[in-house]
Amino acid sequence: MLTRRNFWKTLAAAPIMPLAAAQQAENRMRGLPPLIIKDAKVISTSAGGRYRWVFLKLITSEAGLYGIGTANNAFQTQTVITALEKSLIPWLIGKDANRIEDLWHSANYRTYWRTGPINNDVLAAMDMALWDIKGKRAGMPVYELLGGKTRDAVACYDHVGGNDKESAVDAVQKSMATGYRHIRVQFGENGYGGGGFIPAGQGNRPEGGYSGLAFDEEMYVHAVPEMFDYVRAKVGFAPKLLHDVHSHLSGINAVEFCRRMQPYQMFFVEDVLAPEQIEWYKQIRQVCTTPQAVGEVFSHPFEYMPLITNRLIDFTRCRVTAIGGITPARKMASVCEAHGVRTAFQEGGENDPVNQIAAYHVDISSPAFGIQEENHFPDVVREVLPGTAEIRKGYLYGSDKPGLGIDINEQLAAKYPIGEARQGGPYRTDRALDGSIVRP
Ligand code: MG
Repeated sequence: MLTRRNFWKTLAAAPIMPLAAAQQAENRMRGLPPLIIKDAKVISTSAGGRYRWVFLKLITSEAGLYGIGTANNAFQTQTVITALEKSLIPWLIGKDANRIEDLWHSANYRTYWRTGPINNDVLAAMDMALWDIKGKRAGMPVYELLGGKTRDAVACYDHVGGNDKESAVDAVQKSMATGYRHIRVQFGENGYGGGGFIPAGQGNRPEGGYSGLAFDEEMYVHAVPEMFDYVRAKVGFAPKLLHDVHSHLSGINAVEFCRRMQPYQMFFVEDVLAPEQIEWYKQIRQVCTTPQAVGEVFSHPFEYMPLITNRLIDFTRCRVTAIGGITPARKMASVCEAHGVRTAFQEGGENDPVNQIAAYHVDISSPAFGIQEENHFPDVVREVLPGTAEIRKGYLYGSDKPGLGIDINEQLAAKYPIGEARQGGPYRTDRALDGSIVRP
């Protein structure tokens, strides 16, 4: 019979657990041992092109274990470099790389004034590098840590444009022939705002004033739906068509534009309004069901969360770097999932492969995935950044290596300094006939 006295005797007779085993048991109870960030480097490169890329490499206390992230901001390149080198890195050295969530929040509050484009770029670089480290430590790609694949590859949309209706049809047909199912069509050689520009020197202008290309809203609202009418008549409704207004329209013209686009069954129209005028999405919802993609220049959750939770938009178009990395991107995707909204993470000609692959890991693991913007890189980029994802027949394929699955060849990156690069700021400012600014 096990009396209280016998119990204590039994316990006293039990062999003492060896110290190492006891330590292991304690470690299991407490999670992984600390992994200290012991060094960090900022690596900027033009990658042999006109890029202005800024990467962060975090080096840990475990031999050979490091992670990379991007703070790419083509318009304020030196500002993000300084913010990383002079502010984030001195604060980050010595901290525990395991604690991604805690580090993301404490890095955000560390500057008192939170978020914003520069802070988010800096947060994103740290956040992506920490996810890269965690994946490598686990021996798994980041998407496995986010719940595993929800699809076999990530569908991307192509970019095409035509100077007239016939060339737009040709461009759509060529894109379809390469395998794309989703195709963004812009009108006119000027890309954003194409179809709405009065040529330089033409039109009735103030004396001695602005003489360049001039944007005209009503002209655009007429010309672009007319172009899609022609394209749909020629190619049918099999391709999923998209169009980016790039915030060129004011409130009621944006509403009218979406109403006129209704017959062409768009996959989405993007940024019909400037971010300062998002209240107009309520009016758009009242007059049509043209799907809305929004958020390319958003940086704060207060900008995108109400649009998602009120179901005023259909796709979020944020850039992963611009909203602060994988940590906020996966949360945004979860809110989208709960509200029946989809993600469409933004790329762009000046964007980099680390941001693209960070988006890939969220895309491929999220049930809220809608589409990813394409971004093609020249071969030299694949040498500078081995593991850069590939697009084949309209699908983006990332590597299945542990972590983000991408690396940086530092010696090669150093051969291409950003001082020689020209792509980037200032962003083009469009103007109207009277010389006033048109929002990009
Ligand atoms: Mg856009």
